[in-house]
Amino acid sequence: SLTLSGIGKGFGADDVLKGIDLSIRPGEFLSLVGMSGCGKSTLLRIIAGLEAADRGTVSIGSRDVTDVDPADRNLAMVFQSYALYPHMSVYDNIATPLRMRRLSFWARLPLVGRMAANAETLRDIDAAVKDAVEVLQIGHLLDRRPAQLSGGQRQRVALARALVRSPAAFLMDEPLSNLDAKLRAHMRGELTSLHDRLGATFVYVTHDQIEAMTMSDRIALMSEGRIEQLGTPDELYQQPATLTVARFIGTPS
Ligand code: ATP
Ligand code: MG
Repeated sequence: SLTLSGIGKGFGADDVLKGIDLSIRPGEFLSLVGMSGCGKSTLLRIIAGLEAADRGTVSIGSRDVTDVDPADRNLAMVFQSYALYPHMSVYDNIATPLRMRRLSFWARLPLVGRMAANAETLRDIDAAVKDAVEVLQIGHLLDRRPAQLSGGQRQRVALARALVRSPAAFLMDEPLSNLDAKLRAHMRGELTSLHDRLGATFVYVTHDQIEAMTMSDRIALMSEGRIEQLGTPDELYQQPATLTVARFIGTPS
């Protein structure tokens, strides 16, 4: 599980997060929703370790990772922009996180161990890339550059690059917002089935209530730096705790 306790964060005089407590269950699809500027991306970046909280702790399982480097948290972040490397092929885009991890591991080995470990990990990397590519069905795109892909294909490459590291959880910040309505609807289904197949924890930021309502096990609705309501889509729909929740559920974006 992924546990946030008393997370607080301010930018200058702005108190953006005012004490967020949230326990995310293993394998859960949890959507983080709320108005633009309510602090969703900031919270996700704090979970990923890309931003430091002013107060509070982040734990993965029983481990307090509040002061742990992003690379050592074993979480995969998928950004709205996908953030692919433009000069690399699809294959290299997906393999790069593993190569980087291998390099830092390799550098710690004694010299005699390096040759054998090297051959071993190169085979492992190739196998892991092939697995991720198969799950996302992008085997025919491996030699292309990101500029030669459609939005949906780029999205899938970004997901494969996250998948390849077998993360403890996927953190996704509005990954579908760049896609047109038709593709977005299609990718909703793909993400849901990916989640079902992997059984992995997804923390999914969106301000699209249709995405949140159709994909999530639970929804956390944020407002003014706090979690206003946490519950299943049904609970939020049937029993909105506040007007803000009712408005979010009821208003098309
Ligand atoms: P959106 O739905 O528009 O993406 P959000 O919920 O993701 O919004 P955040 O990006 O977390 O919102 O921003 C929350 C607030 O913190 C905003 O008022 C934003 O201007 C402010 N903020 C975020 N990052 C910084 C920063 N690095 N420096 C100063 N203010 C920031
Ligand atoms: Mg945001």
